[in-house]
Amino acid sequence: MNKAIFLDRDGVLDALVYYPSHDEWESPRAPEDVELLPGVADAIRTAARLGYLIFVVSNQPSAAKGKVTLDALHAVHEELVRQLGDVPITEFFYCYHRAEDRCACRKPSPYFVVEAAKKYDVDLSASWFAGDQDGDIGCGRQAGVRTALLQYARSNPKRGAERADQSFDDLAHFVRWLAQQDPSYVRESPN
Ligand SMILES: [Mg+2]
Ligand SMILES: [Zn+2]
Repeated sequence: MNKAIFLDRDGVLDALVYYPSHDEWESPRAPEDVELLPGVADAIRTAARLGYLIFVVSNQPSAAKGKVTLDALHAVHEELVRQLGDVPITEFFYCYHRAEDRCACRKPSPYFVVEAAKKYDVDLSASWFAGDQDGDIGCGRQAGVRTALLQYARSNPKRGAERADQSFDDLAHFVRWLAQQDPSYVRESPN
């Protein structure tokens, strides 16, 4: 079986963006607003070297809420993929619904994690969910993976109700810690 790291997207891979219209830090609404967070691409490559499959599981309700078009959300995804470059992400899973749509797939539902586990033969007990909000931790907990809360400053109001297994400043720190847990992993070093 495979082991995997399931990643939230906004606030984990890319920066939240301030939109005055709603006075909130939110997911990017346009490709020019996409800004990769520091160390993300290297962290994903390291996680892959540690033997993890990488998935992204993200709620993107802005089109359903009428803030943007679905085409704009697709353009944001394409720009993110472009900025990530050649990193081994196996699949992106997006829920485009709102809470009131009562879909099956919106986090904290574990739906996409369970789907990915079936499709890619993932051992959930050997896997992780890393995200910056309570919904990510709830999703991971319900799916039966271990959870890592990434304490991104701009999403601070969106966490505090869920207790994660581990907490880190960001994705790079999480993956560095994972590497330290793995005795077979030899860090690349000039010496
Ligand atoms: Mg997030
Ligand atoms: Zn959904």
